[in-house]
Amino acid sequence: MDAESGHAGTQTLQRLADALRGPLLRPGDPDYEERRRVWNGAIDRRPLAIARCADAEDVSIAVKFAAKEHLPLTVRGGGHNVAGLAVRDGSLMLDLGALNRVEVDARARIVRVEGGALWRDVDAATQPHGLATTGGFVSSTGVGGLTLGGGVGWLMRQYGLTIDNLLSADVVLADGRCVVASAEQHADLFWALRGGAGGLGVVTRFAFRLHEVGEVLAGAVFHPLEAAPALLRAFRAFVPTAPEPCTFMLVFTAAPPAPFLPPRVHGQRVLALAYCWSGDPTQGEQAMAPLTGFGEPLGRVGGAMPYAAWQQSFDVHAPAGDHYYWTTSILDGLDDGLIDALVLKAAMAPDPLCEVHVHHLGGVVAALPADASAFAHRDAPFFINAIGHAQGPEKLTEVREWARELRSSLLPWAREGMQPNFAGEAADWQAQTHDAATRARLEGIRRKYDPSGLFGLVRRD
Ligand SMILES: Cc1cc2nc3c(=O)[nH]c(=O)nc-3n(C[C@H](O)[C@H](O)[C@H](O)COP(=O)(O)OP(=O)(O)OC[C@H]3O[C@@H](n4cnc5c(N)ncnc54)[C@H](O)[C@@H]3O)c2cc1C
Repeated sequence: MDAESGHAGTQTLQRLADALRGPLLRPGDPDYEERRRVWNGAIDRRPLAIARCADAEDVSIAVKFAAKEHLPLTVRGGGHNVAGLAVRDGSLMLDLGALNRVEVDARARIVRVEGGALWRDVDAATQPHGLATTGGFVSSTGVGGLTLGGGVGWLMRQYGLTIDNLLSADVVLADGRCVVASAEQHADLFWALRGGAGGLGVVTRFAFRLHEVGEVLAGAVFHPLEAAPALLRAFRAFVPTAPEPCTFMLVFTAAPPAPFLPPRVHGQRVLALAYCWSGDPTQGEQAMAPLTGFGEPLGRVGGAMPYAAWQQSFDVHAPAGDHYYWTTSILDGLDDGLIDALVLKAAMAPDPLCEVHVHHLGGVVAALPADASAFAHRDAPFFINAIGHAQGPEKLTEVREWARELRSSLLPWAREGMQPNFAGEAADWQAQTHDAATRARLEGIRRKYDPSGLFGLVRRD
């Protein structure tokens, strides 16, 4: 088949279009432009066609078609992957955006989520029951990609990573078969799906365990940059023994023009301590006081609020269509030398939109054995994300260099490797996201379930 433009290609694609229940979008079709675009505006790729799958049967048809025609295939869940893994020039994109139904079984505390849903779809369905499971730090991310890469978020220290709550996945394999992966069925595939970062099949439905999460105690305390070294040391000292219901994130950012901050600091670089307490709200304030009460802040915002409201409060900082480059470091500690290097580089961001996020893990995340899933670094106490962000393309090179340099400056203290969900380049997926033993085990499972490497093709960009 002439993959680009040939007559035979057009006819063959028409056969696919006729077989699908959902539309097959081609260049020139009204929705093609919108669906080829992903969250990161710096990614500008043009697939040969986009199969907007209506159901698992459509996914199976499209997968078999790609295999038969030797077409490169990509899968689009929420489209949030910063490296743009969901889209590739000249490929067939399986767009799961219409597969976004969410069903809650409140009595059994299980939520069933289709493969193209976003976290805000999950919260909208579960929160009216006072239930939730670990999603991301923002609500606009796709459930699909986030889960396959592990899934860190506000609830993880009390309820585990997203993958720790995964009960089963309905998967369309490279030969078009639909199987269920769980602890009992295709257990090897289930292990690999949990943190293996994809490339195994298309998950059309996830089932997650739910927990009682209604209101959380959440907010942010803003500090001047001069306080950053001392605050990072206080963070380092407190979090190893912090109670499981609390998760913090330190954010180097520009002070928003908000009423809870004095106008003189609006737009200036500051360090914000964001926090979320998901346990009994009456105990949260005291439990978090060693950090939330630190120093002399510039201002603070927060209080008791529904979990879904807190999860959405960061969405505005990550608008779709802006230009991004991210990278990430895994750390066993926050040495004084690292703190100095970090503060120096974080203070010099080339664009006010750039941020640095300092995260901690621990709690339930660290309680499971390292090989419980393919998520390789659950025992790491800290990780740091450099978020290169500019509104348009002009500054992208500069913000990319800044993010890379920040990571390089932390290398003396960093573990080898990266958390898949925050790896900024397709090449990182091949070499960096798993240690050698996990990678070897994953490759064996990929060979078993996808012997022709159909799903592996997304990794060759
Ligand atoms: C603003 C923002 C905030 C984020 N916050 C967090 C966070 O708090 N925690 C966290 O862990 N990560 C976070 N991430 C990272 C995010 O989890 C990854 O970028 C993830 O890949 C996004 O998944 P997606 O489905 O939206 O992306 P996509 O770009 O659609 O997909 C990413 C990869 O997953 C594959 N994929 C997606 N869905 C499926 C499926 N159903 N079946 C098979 N393969 C599939 C795609 O083929 C692709 O390779 C964030 C990302 C952004 C942009």
